[in-house]
Order: sequence, then structure tokens, then C-alpha cells
Amino acid sequence: MARSYVVRTFGCQMNEHDSERISGLLEADGLQLAEHEDDADVVVLNTCCIRENADNKLYGNLGFLKRWKDEREGRQIVISGCLAQKDRELVAKKAPWVDVVMGTHNVHRTAALLQHSREHGTVTEIFDEAVIDDHALFPSALPARRDTSYNAWVTIQIGCDNNCAFCIVPSVRGAEISRPFDDVLAEVRALAANGVTEITLLGQNVNSYGRDLQLNARQAGHAEVRVRPLFAELLAQAGSVPGIRRVRFTSPHPKDMRADTFAAMGATPTVCEHLHYPLQSGSDRLLAVMHRGYTAQRYLERLAQARAAVPDLAVSTDIIVGFPGETEHDFVGTLEVAAAAEYDYAYTFVFSPRAGTEAAEMVHDFVDPAVTAERFQRLRVVVEHSALLKHQARIGRVEEVLVEGPSKKDPTVVSGRTRQNKLVHFTPPHPLRVGAYGLVEVTGAAPHHLVGRFLEQTAEPVHKRRIPVLAG
Ligand code: SF4
Repeated sequence: MARSYVVRTFGCQMNEHDSERISGLLEADGLQLAEHEDDADVVVLNTCCIRENADNKLYGNLGFLKRWKDEREGRQIVISGCLAQKDRELVAKKAPWVDVVMGTHNVHRTAALLQHSREHGTVTEIFDEAVIDDHALFPSALPARRDTSYNAWVTIQIGCDNNCAFCIVPSVRGAEISRPFDDVLAEVRALAANGVTEITLLGQNVNSYGRDLQLNARQAGHAEVRVRPLFAELLAQAGSVPGIRRVRFTSPHPKDMRADTFAAMGATPTVCEHLHYPLQSGSDRLLAVMHRGYTAQRYLERLAQARAAVPDLAVSTDIIVGFPGETEHDFVGTLEVAAAAEYDYAYTFVFSPRAGTEAAEMVHDFVDPAVTAERFQRLRVVVEHSALLKHQARIGRVEEVLVEGPSKKDPTVVSGRTRQNKLVHFTPPHPLRVGAYGLVEVTGAAPHHLVGRFLEQTAEPVHKRRIPVLAG
């Protein structure tokens, strides 16, 4: 009987994408997906070190997995992802029953490392940087097992060249490396040929995509070095691949957002009207301490440019409350920028130190947790008010939705996502296939979702500017 596996993923989309590849590699090696750990022979924990107490949670899970492993001969435990990259040999030292510890640049080695551990015992393999090899470099170039057949992430870049004071990513994911332009497009074409209609271009700082490619080409003395803005061009070309109906991207960095990206978003009908635009703080002083590379004014100016170029643009953001040294004055700056930005959605976080980051060293400036909690609530009021107003303004409109499946709370209700990335709940008169497109009239609004009335299924893309207006 074939051996079976489960992969448990913690953290961001990059990790989820890596998990798809780990699953694909295990299946290419003959393993089958198990529904639960109880049925599995291999458990992979793809870890994240961004979340609070990630270390404690990992080692707590490993205690449980030791009992799981002892229950059946031949079971194996793999620890991958950012926490493995950061803790390295420490993982196997603390939990010697683990079989494989592999870093963020070692995903392509999953099957080989499992085999190695079967023959030689626990193995820790952490590459410090991406190996210059197609398969090793970009997880998208590896086989994948995706949970959905209609949408897919496409890695366009790995690593990050920034040094935001609160972020561990550059030290666990390495320097930025862009995937060759034609490789990205080839993957998008292959996905479209397999029925994928929605893609999300994925990187830590997508709008600096291609900088290194241009630099390398110049250093190699290529006469025909592209001077065109590569990310804007990539958006336009990926969005023109036949069969692709929606293009999204994440995450951009405000300091690198350029007018040509906004122009490409506006001019490419398949590129969705949604921009995730992380603010982090509205205080120029704190933005400088964070090394974010923009001011609040610059941020808002570029946001205005984006909205001018992309009609009906929805905007989401990330904001940290209680960053070390945050004063009431700094925080009021954040409230003001958040109010001025009129976000559709905001991911708000209470600062918590991540070992290995500059901010974690600023212990003398840590903000009293009670003060942070009170500020957090004040910020929630501002962003939820703005989200509700944005959603209420959509009542009566017709939106194209991509069907995601039954609602988590009520299986008689179907959930879909609009081009603006808003969740809509509706009850269709007949079953709808997951991945189908339809039109919904918005009838109700809440800060985190819309409610709608299903109108019809659509075979052809309904792009911006072509959505019909309801009579009356
Ligand atoms: S841009 Fe900043 S927050 Fe984003 S991954 Fe890079 S260092 Fe982290």
C-alpha cells in the first residue's frame, strides 16, 4: 500500500505555495494525501516564524507528534519553512525524534531528504541561499498539488532586499531573485491550459520584480537590456494569456509602487481592481525607524495616483500598533492616514517582537501593552467604519463573483469573491460549480463581507466597465 502524508501550513501565502509544492513532490514520489495525521505515514509542518510564539507552538506540536510517531513503525516527521531556516540544528536538538529539518531553499529536496533519513536517521539541511537551478529556485517550477483547480499562485520572485525593522523575512528567505519573465509567462499559459482562470503573482516585494534581471543583464554586457518597467509589463502580458480571467498580485511595497504599475492595472482588463498597500504606520518618524522608505504624504499621494488610474479600486492594508517607541502623537498620525486612505479592509496587528529582528532589540522602547490594546481598539473603529461605508456604497450594484463554495457558517449559502476581493454570500437557485463565475446584485453590507442576490452564471469574463447596470 502506498505511504501517505499530510502537510500542515503556518503563515503566509508564500508558505502555502511552498506546501503545494511539497505535496506535489511527495505525490510524484508515490505518496498519497491522507485526510488526517492518524492515517498518515509522513507529517510535514511547514512553519512560520512571523507569528507570535511560533517557537512555542512548534515545539508543542512536536511533543504531540512524538506520540503519533511512536504509534506506528516507519512514520516520519518533516519540519520545513521559516522557523526551520531560523532555528536550524536547534530543531533536532530540541526534538530528536524529528526525521527531516529543511530550510526555505530546500523544498525541492523533500523526497530525497525523507529517503536519506530512512537510511541514515535525522537529517538537517538548510541552504543559506537559493541554489541556482530552475527547480530549486522557484517553487512554481516544481510539481504541485493545489487545493483548488480554478486559481493558482505564480511565484515571480523570492527573497526580499528590504530591511524593515520588524520583519524576519530577509534573513530566512534571502535576497531578492526574480524569476525569468518568460518562465513566469510559460507557467501562466500552462495553468490556463489546465483550467485555471485566476492567478496571483506572488513575491515579497512584487513591484521591484525584474530589477535584478536588468542589473544582471547589464553586468553581462547585454546590449539589449530592457529598460521597460518589468512588473507592469508582466501584469499586462500575464493578464493577456487566453483563459485567464483574473490577475491579482501580492505583496507590493509602497516605496516601489510606480505610475506604470497603476497604468498597467487600469489598462489590463483582467487585472483586478484591488491593491494591497501596506501602511504599517502613519508616523513619518516611525516609518523611518522601521526603514520603510516612504512618508505618510508620499504614501497617500501614490494611493491617489492608483485610484485615478484604476476606477473602482479597492484598497487593503497592514498596520502595526504599538511599534517600539510609538507615542500618542505617532499613533494619531496613523489614525489620520488610515481615515484619509479610506481602506476597504485593514489587517491590524499588535506589535510583538520577532527574535532576530532589529525591532526585537528595542526593548527599552516597548509600549505598555495596555496602551497598545487601547490604541488597537481605536484603530479598529476607524478602519471598520471606512470598510462599512465602502461596502454600503456597493449596495444595488451588480458584481462579478468567482464561486468559492459553501459558506463556512451556513452550507446552504454560497460564498464568492468579487474582483475587488470582497466576500459575497448569496443563495443561488441551483447548485453552482466551485470556480464558476456569476453575477450577483449586492443587497447588504457588513464591514467584512457583502450579501447578494444571485442573477446569472456567466461564461464570458465580465470585466470592469462592462458590468451591466440594473434597471430601476
Ligand atoms: S518588504 Fe519589509 S515587510 Fe516585506 S518582506 Fe521585505 S522586509 Fe519584510
